[in-house]
Amino acid sequence: MDANEQLFSEATSAVFDDVEPAVSGFDPEISSLMKEIPRLVSKMVSGQRTAYPENIRRTLPKVIGGVFDDASVGAAAFTYKGNYFIGLNWGTYSLLYELFRRLLSHPHVLPWVGDSSKEIPLSKFNDVPLRSEISDIRATFLSPQEVQYPRDPLREEAAWYLTHAATGWILFHEFRHIYGGHLDYNISRTGIPFIREMMSENKDSETGLILQAQEMDADLFASHYAIGNEVAWHRGDHPDNPHWHRFFPDPRHVIECALLRTDTVFKIFDMGDTPDPSTWAQKEHPPLFVRRRMNAELLWRDLPLINELSHLREVMTSQIMPTVFSISETTTSSLFGKPERDSPWATGQDVVHNHILAIFDAWRKILPEILPFRYLDSKFDRISRGE
Ligand SMILES: [Zn+2]
Repeated sequence: MDANEQLFSEATSAVFDDVEPAVSGFDPEISSLMKEIPRLVSKMVSGQRTAYPENIRRTLPKVIGGVFDDASVGAAAFTYKGNYFIGLNWGTYSLLYELFRRLLSHPHVLPWVGDSSKEIPLSKFNDVPLRSEISDIRATFLSPQEVQYPRDPLREEAAWYLTHAATGWILFHEFRHIYGGHLDYNISRTGIPFIREMMSENKDSETGLILQAQEMDADLFASHYAIGNEVAWHRGDHPDNPHWHRFFPDPRHVIECALLRTDTVFKIFDMGDTPDPSTWAQKEHPPLFVRRRMNAELLWRDLPLINELSHLREVMTSQIMPTVFSISETTTSSLFGKPERDSPWATGQDVVHNHILAIFDAWRKILPEILPFRYLDSKFDRISRGE
């Protein structure tokens, strides 16, 4: 165990009652993830740090990535003895890979990747109980006759690419909880030294909306930086996988992959039911459709800033935005077996819109307390305010 693994392990045991650090040596897949996550986090942190002037950079805290020995879906940002940590359940990673392989085995998902005509649509997908453990999912829902993986090797590789992209997005999201000041703000307010990605409920709606505002901020930050990476991969700039540009024959495909990547993450972190709008404000995370809509809108606002994508704003306005929810609804309902026809998207867009405004209000309220925070990236925050 190296020094960072030791710190991660000690902090995890000290901060959480119900989470254990993963220990190497019992499963090759998890052992390789245990090397990969700290590497990705340290790369991401050093990339982010270069954006700050030297005098600020010196004050930025250390962030250490690690893996939790947990087969269910989960991730967390936490702090202990002056160090900051990002932890990912290994179950999150395994489930993402399973899901993307199933998605790519459908000819209508990213049809331009490889030879999608080789893929055979299943008559139905099972309703995967997403909060259950990956071993249960494998045992009961991915039984041999149900397992369907991409037939085309390039599509199989695209499932791996999307798993990597989605994991990167989650790490950016957790990172924002740290460098965006959310975690320190929460400690000053409630003393709780962690932020966990769970759909738990709060008693009061003010706390719920503040936490949702932080989630929104972390989502938008993650989407902004993740798409920046993916545009670079489209150019063939990925340091380890230069051939990943094959998944994006056209810049428009970067957008479609990005929407699929984040929709799937939102879906696995969601409880799956459509909650009563009167209780939304008490949740720690915005409802699924709110996160989806805000994410798509961020992407739309981001386009002019990204050279390769700037010319696509009109395409996104006229073609992608009107269908983004019907596409993601079709994709997720065929994948997850839950038709979302009763979602507020179909019947009450104003309810979603009002909730987004309430989150923005909460965000503006906490902004003055977070703004002086030494890590804030002002350019990004102008974007998330829509300026
Ligand atoms: Zn979060």
